[in-house]
Amino acid sequence: MSDEHRWTAPRSDFLVPFDGSFRLADAPTGPTEEVDEDALEDAREKRTEAIGELQRKLYADDHYSALFVFQAMDAGGKDSTIRHVFTGVNPAGFQVSSFKAPSAEELDHDFLWRIARRLPERGRIGVFNRSHYEEVLVVRVHPEYLEGQRLPSYDLDTIWGERFESIRNFEKHLADNGTVIVKFFLNVSLDEQKERFLRRIDKPSKNWKFNEGDVEERKRWPDYMHAFEEALNATSRPWAPWYAIPADSKPYMRLQVARIVQQTLESLRVDYPEVDDEAKAGLAKCRRMLEEQ
Ligand code: ATP
Ligand code: MG
Repeated sequence: MSDEHRWTAPRSDFLVPFDGSFRLADAPTGPTEEVDEDALEDAREKRTEAIGELQRKLYADDHYSALFVFQAMDAGGKDSTIRHVFTGVNPAGFQVSSFKAPSAEELDHDFLWRIARRLPERGRIGVFNRSHYEEVLVVRVHPEYLEGQRLPSYDLDTIWGERFESIRNFEKHLADNGTVIVKFFLNVSLDEQKERFLRRIDKPSKNWKFNEGDVEERKRWPDYMHAFEEALNATSRPWAPWYAIPADSKPYMRLQVARIVQQTLESLRVDYPEVDDEAKAGLAKCRRMLEEQ
């Protein structure tokens, strides 16, 4: 496809390399430089506005769709990052989908079925709050969930590799057909997660967010980290890159995400369609008619 190289993954220290060399233990969970949180928020707001304008051009151009995938451990900050980064986008051209434990209807299909149903249309931005990656993360940490999936057969030694391959092929197919895919792993530390859970317990307005089961899951942290590392290495590719964003400082994280989203949309070089001479003459004629009425 001639347009294939029209889009390139924005550069970032947090881009997960495409050669399988990503080591989660070496990836920062906090800012890698001195930060002034107010200045970060101001910078992020400007980028949020720019993203709103870029979305209008994406919509007018009507060839691409943009899909931004968010994965994180609990309390990693997915919801608030999505809210802050995309507040400037017209809701008419924007859709957030959250993926929870699959329903009975969803379990009656292959694991990509529910994902395909939520893909953004051309001209629109789609955000996934959790995604098909849960199938190689939470399900890998809890392989007993596979029982509920009613697969004809499976082998725990090979199923994760097979799922990575399905996901790579699925994302390549989407990319070849006009979907721009960028994936964010919000990399929060075990200590910061504990602080955020404590705040959810102590602050009445945050109580509803607290889930007892999440505390149990902390015991499986190393299993999750292993699953994340393998998934990111197996599926970070030029047409669907992963970014492992330090998530312990929310303003820092949001700015990094906003910058990558903005640069992704900019690199498409979409613009309002140019009107040709014939159409311009038509506009001039309509203007005269309106003035005479
Ligand atoms: P928050 O991060 O704000 O707590 P959430 O995304 O965790 O929101 P919850 O309803 O708390 O929302 O949790 C959704 C749960 O569904 C998560 O624990 C996630 O791991 C689980 N889940 C998502 N997809 C699958 C799947 N394919 N199989 C099994 N569990 C899944
Ligand atoms: Mg939760």
